[in-house]
Amino acid sequence: ATPTAVVAGIGNAAKYGIIVRSGEALERLSRIRRAAFDKTGTLTCGKPQVAAAVSCRDNFADSDVLHLAAAAEQRSEHPLGRAILAGADGSVAAAEDFRVVPGQGVSATVENKRVLVGKADFMKSQGVDISAADAPAREWMRRGATVVYLASDGQLAGFIALADALRPDAPRAVQKLKAAGVAPMLLTGDNEAAARRIAAKAGIEDVKADLLPEGKMNAIYACSRGGEPVCMIGDGVNDAPAMTAADAGIAMGGVGSDIAIESADAVLVLDDIKRIPYLFSLTQKVMRKIR
Ligand code: ADP
Ligand code: MG
Repeated sequence: ATPTAVVAGIGNAAKYGIIVRSGEALERLSRIRRAAFDKTGTLTCGKPQVAAAVSCRDNFADSDVLHLAAAAEQRSEHPLGRAILAGADGSVAAAEDFRVVPGQGVSATVENKRVLVGKADFMKSQGVDISAADAPAREWMRRGATVVYLASDGQLAGFIALADALRPDAPRAVQKLKAAGVAPMLLTGDNEAAARRIAAKAGIEDVKADLLPEGKMNAIYACSRGGEPVCMIGDGVNDAPAMTAADAGIAMGGVGSDIAIESADAVLVLDDIKRIPYLFSLTQKVMRKIR
């Protein structure tokens, strides 16, 4: 039978907008000593906005870059895809054969051309040379932007720089997390420069960038092997493998994808990042009462 203190703990968490899946989940959460945050949608608000669209082709306007990318992303559920669609307000061309490569980008057929939108590694893996965008893209990344590239029929067309704000409560939450004896880290599929910039603002020193979904999972396994019970906090499909691999998973319930929510031991109903340190303190207190 579940001890009364655990049941009461789950009830208290619920009052603060945190759904804890089970008594076992609560116990696992109480042992966590390291918390890995995803970036987009978890540490940041998950509402990136287009800061610039830049053409790398002579016969192509900057606005064409945005509209073609938006056409390819129109069925995307990723915050970056939705931001590109919102940035290209107005009508976009029809797209067929839409495909998602989690943590990398999307592809679709638009006006009989195969269009790719995604990160540098995605373009390279598809044989697209992005060197023409190198210098200007690096400048945007240095300023903390996420850069996604656009290619059509195997040729680079341009890139889009997107900016996403840190959740205002993130620095305070990270500080309290450290006080609760849980060391924060950042695991992201985004580029190193953007990741380091956001992490520094949040007070996180430990950063692993350019990770694919299985890279996030391997980083989690590495912590576990080191004997450190670790928790993954995420919102996306790309975080689900890491959340399952972790000793515990926490999902952002508002912006989060269904898969992330299903993989989680605890769900933050209102996406309030301040509730994370509260959750660890609460579960630690409950388990101290029982032992
Ligand atoms: P994060 O770890 O920050 O939540 P993801 O793992 O979801 O990021 O994505 C990693 C990178 O893959 C993004 O920074 C972007 O470059 C690229 N990417 C993922 N999905 C898309 C998409 N729908 N459109 C364009 N780029 C994408
Ligand atoms: Mg995310």
